Amino acid sequence: MKNYASLLLLAGVVGVLSILFRLNRTADPLVAGLTSLLSPAASIVLPSSPLFANLTRRCVGAYNPEIAAVVRVGAEADVPLIISYAKQNGRTLFVGSSRHGWGASLNDVRDAIMVDITPLSAVVIDSAANTVTVGGGVTIGRVVEALHAAGKETSAGGCDCVGFLGPTLGGGHGRLQGRYGLMADNLVSVRLATASSEIVTVSNTSHAELFWGLRGAGHNFGIVTEAVYRIHDQPNGGIDFSADITYEPEHLEDIFAALNAFSLEQPVDTTVFAMFVPRPGIQPFIALSFISSSPATALETLNRAFGHLPHTSRTESLIPADHTNRLGAFGVGTVSCTNTVRKNAYGVSLTHYHIPTVRGVFTLFAVFIAQNPEAHESVVVFESYPVQAVMAVPEADTAYPHREEKHLILLLAVYPRAELDGLVAQWLGSASGILHTESGFEKPAVYLNYAHGGEGLGASYGYEEWRMEKLKGLKRRWDPEGVFNAFHPIPSV
Ligand SMILES: Cc1cc2nc3c(=O)[nH]c(=O)nc-3n(C[C@H](O)[C@H](O)[C@H](O)COP(=O)(O)OP(=O)(O)OC[C@H]3O[C@@H](n4cnc5c(N)ncnc54)[C@H](O)[C@@H]3O)c2cc1C
Repeated sequence: MKNYASLLLLAGVVGVLSILFRLNRTADPLVAGLTSLLSPAASIVLPSSPLFANLTRRCVGAYNPEIAAVVRVGAEADVPLIISYAKQNGRTLFVGSSRHGWGASLNDVRDAIMVDITPLSAVVIDSAANTVTVGGGVTIGRVVEALHAAGKETSAGGCDCVGFLGPTLGGGHGRLQGRYGLMADNLVSVRLATASSEIVTVSNTSHAELFWGLRGAGHNFGIVTEAVYRIHDQPNGGIDFSADITYEPEHLEDIFAALNAFSLEQPVDTTVFAMFVPRPGIQPFIALSFISSSPATALETLNRAFGHLPHTSRTESLIPADHTNRLGAFGVGTVSCTNTVRKNAYGVSLTHYHIPTVRGVFTLFAVFIAQNPEAHESVVVFESYPVQAVMAVPEADTAYPHREEKHLILLLAVYPRAELDGLVAQWLGSASGILHTESGFEKPAVYLNYAHGGEGLGASYGYEEWRMEKLKGLKRRWDPEGVFNAFHPIPSV
């Protein structure tokens, strides 16, 4: 009897709580005001929902915008409505796609409405026109897979789970850039939802100055709902050659000398990454990934450039191009897409490898890992992409400012506890600091999408006065109130 009474009491409490919860939801001014405006497929997800954590979790967790609600768009028309609603109600707007971006400005975002654009993920190929039209929230993996199935390809980043537009708007590096240029160089036009809640088409012939800005500083001016890219016939039957090689660290100087020599005549089809990889109790080893989209000549190129270096292990494989992001480069693309441990990342752009500095970075990394064994999944990646088609585009033609860079360095700290944030930032700061001093650039340079935000605007957007004036002018024209200021914002004055 006593048990029965307790059960009744418990049921009563649960009932009252659930009524209060529902009242609270319908009373939420955001839900009440916005729901009726949106398309039927759209939804609003509040922090009380079990879906909220998954929709807001970020890959690089040291940078964490404060989100009050997620609005999942159901159709393109929802996007300008959300922008207008946020402005009218004085709410901060935040654009969320695949959530791999990082940068200090993300930590300044408070109480924001996040526009989740991932439902806009259609991929439509026009083989005759050699274009692909993609939704603004599509991932790299979806685009690469669809193009591969059609015997086509275009420049794309090396991790399938990353958004297609996020990289593009900052430039967009990938293995095919030697042939086709940056991802941004392949952009034909976009549909952009602007701060004034209109949708405009932006291309070389429509709002051409804005098109210039979108290709390198594009996170600043609106939300891309759809984009058209140039595509190309696969020249290799859709098969890549991949080699994964490991070395002991005493060969570092020879490896980076070989990388410097290789980059002087790097074939258009070949990308090489060198990585410092921790191992328990001893110094990190050096891993080299060599990926070529010309399988017929790749082995000869590999042996000529790196065959003289005494390796510890070496495997070679032929991979269908739509699997290369997952299987090539020691499978690092798969690990990056599934690992949910806390991360922080800094980038540096270089014109060449200054070998004593690379040794200095190795030593700093080895000490950092020895002192913080919990950070054993951290890695330093030295990315050497082919640059022929990137450099063929004049620097003034797009907002992308660093076309003469040959190597992108990614310092990636992976660690389990936020308490290590300070130590991690110290390591990232000192390693990036020495790289910047011998970068080959007069002043620090960093790929915008690898920047942590403390480098200064010039480092990511270029130091030329005309360039910054042009960007500020575009900001005044297209986003005077700073609606799109969450990601490496350009000031309007
Ligand atoms: C694991 C990993 C692998 C990476 N590999 C590469 C690579 O191979 N090549 C490369 O160039 N970069 C690479 N990057 C860097 C990448 O370019 C940036 O992290 C980029 O910001 C990720 O975009 P996203 O859509 O995934 O992330 P999000 O965090 O969702 O987007 C980042 C920012 O981009 C803007 N944005 C995204 N989509 C839109 C849109 N449709 N309209 C308007 N604004 C938009 C928003 O301002 C948003 O804050 C990688 C990053 C990670 C973490």
